Amino acid sequence: MTVTESRTDDQRVGDLIDELLREHPPADTKTSEFLGAQFDLGLAWVHFPEGHGGLGLSPKLQTVINERIFVAGGPNPYYRNPIGYGMCGPTVVEWGSDEQKQRYLRPLFTGEEIWCQLFSEPGSGSDFAGLSARGVRDGDEWIVNGQKVWTTLAHISKWGLLVVRTDREAVKHAGLTAFVVDMEAPGVEVRPLRQMTGEAEFNEVYFTDTRIADAEMLGGSGDGWRVSLTTLMNERVSIGGSVAPRGSGAIGAAVNLWKSLPEERRDAVARDDLMKLWIRSEVGRLTNIRAAQNRKVGVPGPEGSIGKLAGAEVNKDVYELCVDLMGADGLLYGTYEMVRPEIAMGADTLQKAFLRSRANSIEGGTSEVMRNILGERVLGLPGDVRVDRDVPWSEVPRN
Ligand SMILES: Cc1cc2nc3c(=O)[nH]c(=O)nc-3n(C[C@H](O)[C@H](O)[C@H](O)COP(=O)(O)OP(=O)(O)OC[C@H]3O[C@@H](n4cnc5c(N)ncnc54)[C@H](O)[C@@H]3O)c2cc1C
Repeated sequence: MTVTESRTDDQRVGDLIDELLREHPPADTKTSEFLGAQFDLGLAWVHFPEGHGGLGLSPKLQTVINERIFVAGGPNPYYRNPIGYGMCGPTVVEWGSDEQKQRYLRPLFTGEEIWCQLFSEPGSGSDFAGLSARGVRDGDEWIVNGQKVWTTLAHISKWGLLVVRTDREAVKHAGLTAFVVDMEAPGVEVRPLRQMTGEAEFNEVYFTDTRIADAEMLGGSGDGWRVSLTTLMNERVSIGGSVAPRGSGAIGAAVNLWKSLPEERRDAVARDDLMKLWIRSEVGRLTNIRAAQNRKVGVPGPEGSIGKLAGAEVNKDVYELCVDLMGADGLLYGTYEMVRPEIAMGADTLQKAFLRSRANSIEGGTSEVMRNILGERVLGLPGDVRVDRDVPWSEVPRN
């Protein structure tokens, strides 16, 4: 792309943002209406094709769009539909048919239809490719049976991105197929799973003879692993790759807490701990900026896994320091009454944030698995032991 073309793109996008904010002032416009207009102008995911929420332009322009919209008080589509916006949308646009893109992307972006990710099972989380839920073809439909687990926001979801085993005789990665499933279809049962925060933001989901139309497949039969990689790559960036302003987020909360403490509680050791965490947070932030720059020129590096790993660990350590700094107050907790939140990863107190942060090194791929990826793909260390790679899934021992 020449400099002139790129300037023209900037200008075109700038004009469209002006139009969006002029015609739909954020303060007076319903969130779904604003987001609908943003989608129609191609400013939802600017790198998506025209007519599907984008303009087919460089993704770097999305940062400009988001910044201008947020500064003007516009909504962030991630909060209401984090899994849909961050992971399922990019998967549908890459693997879906034109009909699927047409049907799903707009209400996903506006938050009118929430999405969930139905990957993990009781017997396969890190080893997700070993999953057991089955899909069996029946004419123009597939009949699905099995159990999924840890399904965030399934209780408010309209659609799920589901991966099932459709060929038991293929090796484990080759026998998977991805579908869009209607979470209100007969045979779909969603049960709450309560977390240590007291809330149940995730669920177990049972499929009993659930029928899914063949047209709801993403990619082809047997493409499930490749489809999932699109989702998982986006998940890591979505969870660990955001670039917040310097000193904001968890470390910002810790600094504010520090400032509120009486002088006698601000000892040198705690100050040292806080500074070390501030530096780790800033290094993570700068790494994420570098990763975002690399993604823009089309060479995503290992930073997605680095960001996920480093972000999870520093978040846990920051909130741990917070409850330490709070002293006995850190033990106080509002209520353990079970609630079914409508947003994921929310925490209104530091104590809850501390409990919720424990999940950071599990969700979206555990820290151990991230280290494996970095060890193998970046450092070139010997691979993990994989005894089932060349064996038909049906012959792999499991309990
Ligand atoms: C809050 C939260 C929300 C979630 N939301 C969703 C969701 O919406 N949809 C969804 O599909 N899933 C979701 N998950 C599931 C998540 O992806 C899995 O929990 C995660 O991948 C780990 O799988 P597992 O729980 O089965 O643990 P396991 O894979 O059984 O791992 C157990 C332990 O063994 C370690 N381990 C496993 N394999 C290796 C290895 N090869 N080398 C070294 N150590 C290893 C792990 O690091 C871990 O410490 C969520 C999880 C959490 C905590």
